[in-house]
Amino acid sequence: MADKKKSGGFFSDLFAPVAGFGVTFASQFKKQYTEEYPEEKRPTAPRFHGRHQLNRHPDGLEKCVGCELCAWACPADAIFVEGANNDDAADQRFSPGERYGRVYQINYLRCIFCGLCIEACPTRALTMTNFYELADYRREDLIFTKEQLLAPLQEGMLPAPHPMVAGMEERDYYQGKVAKATPEQEQWVREHAPDIEDGMTPSGDPVLATDPVAHGQQATRPSTEGVRR
Ligand code: SF4
Ligand code: SF4
Repeated sequence: MADKKKSGGFFSDLFAPVAGFGVTFASQFKKQYTEEYPEEKRPTAPRFHGRHQLNRHPDGLEKCVGCELCAWACPADAIFVEGANNDDAADQRFSPGERYGRVYQINYLRCIFCGLCIEACPTRALTMTNFYELADYRREDLIFTKEQLLAPLQEGMLPAPHPMVAGMEERDYYQGKVAKATPEQEQWVREHAPDIEDGMTPSGDPVLATDPVAHGQQATRPSTEGVRR
């Protein structure tokens, strides 16, 4: 025997077809939460997962050691890293220790901002900023290179390449024994990077302490050569 449909009573049955409109009607008296983006930008949560940044040591050397752990951890295959050896004899030292990230790219068409890459990074070289305006018109503009991802130089930092602080080892950098660039390092950079006065170093580092993330700008990529599609 088929179940008989239960009745909710006379008034309930009468208003049932229009009950859904009650929600709409009640909403008219609630506070509106319309966001006037992009005219008004609300601050993000402190631990928001935004654009990545490649950090530096206090003297300006890069923290990335080119180990590729971030690339292996990425579920979206969005990171491409190619490491290389630091070479003091050839004046090519970009990080303390043996290796540095020669090529570093993040494809923001693939990235899902999960943060697994920054968890995997053993040197805290890779972190995420609060910058989220990553829309663009061209596909290649959303593949960020190392020059774009590197943190801007802060006071006391010198653009890489340059030697490590004299008498310090790689572990000293991670133990916080380096506070800023020394006069010897400054002298070295003056001698080996004369075009630093132009605002850019040979490696493309911005010398002025301008933060493209804070200013809502993306640094200009010099070339798309070597970009993985
Ligand atoms: S945030 Fe996630 S998807 Fe984006 S690069 Fe890092 S690991 Fe890959
Ligand atoms: S960002 Fe970190 S995990 Fe990725 S290559 Fe550099 S040091 Fe390794």
